[in-house]
Amino acid sequence: MSFERRPLIAGNWKMNGLINSVDNLACILVKKLDLGKPTHFDLLICPPSTLLHPIGVLTEKSNLLLGGQNCHMAKHGAHTGEISAEMLKELGCSHVILGHSERRTDFYETNKLVKAKSESALAENLTAIICVGETEEEYKRGLTGGVVKKQILDSIPEGASATNIIIAYEPVWAIGTGLTPTTQEVQEVHALIRKTLGEKISIEESERTRLLYGGSVKPSNSVELMGLADVDGALVGGASLSGVDFWAIAESCPK
Ligand code: PEP
Repeated sequence: MSFERRPLIAGNWKMNGLINSVDNLACILVKKLDLGKPTHFDLLICPPSTLLHPIGVLTEKSNLLLGGQNCHMAKHGAHTGEISAEMLKELGCSHVILGHSERRTDFYETNKLVKAKSESALAENLTAIICVGETEEEYKRGLTGGVVKKQILDSIPEGASATNIIIAYEPVWAIGTGLTPTTQEVQEVHALIRKTLGEKISIEESERTRLLYGGSVKPSNSVELMGLADVDGALVGGASLSGVDFWAIAESCPK
């Protein structure tokens, strides 16, 4: 971990959480962050859109960061059921997850679309957390490096920099399964992502860009994963729904 890259632990609540999650989870994290000692990590939660307003009110004066799970590529208009980057911004979001494998699979999102969505996020000064990762079949066939490299090259928006994008490497087969690649494999892919960013943006920016690992991160494996040289935090699904586990993962980041 470079001293220039402050760890980020991001929680993707997915389609989970009703109003009581604001009291049960968001309030607990706000209190821990704001009333405790200063932390050596940034903490971000990405609840479903229905909770962004109540949680946004709570996080307005807090160190807890708020993000969306998706946004549309257009600024506004006839796009039933969608949410724009500007709407996320208005609700207090600083980040948005884009290109999550569940969206790539369920909604056929392509690299081109992820790039367009990322550009709309950047236009609203949101940091785009761009997700990449290989399927189980690609992993078994030894295609991980090529797949991830292509996703990066094709999904990164124009004007990307260390301050407006974050890359999350999430092997599809590791999401919600309890499986993870070996730490050596994670480090190798993260190093490749950084090298690819260096070619695409600049070496200096790539050295400052935060790269998150995601896929079955939990307190029992986070010390090892967060300790890897090119891992600067985690994108956490299931374990982010427990305040205790999410906090333990954050605390496991090296100081
Ligand atoms: C995710 O969906 O981004 C994720 C990493 O999920 P989980 O932590 O549950 O594997």
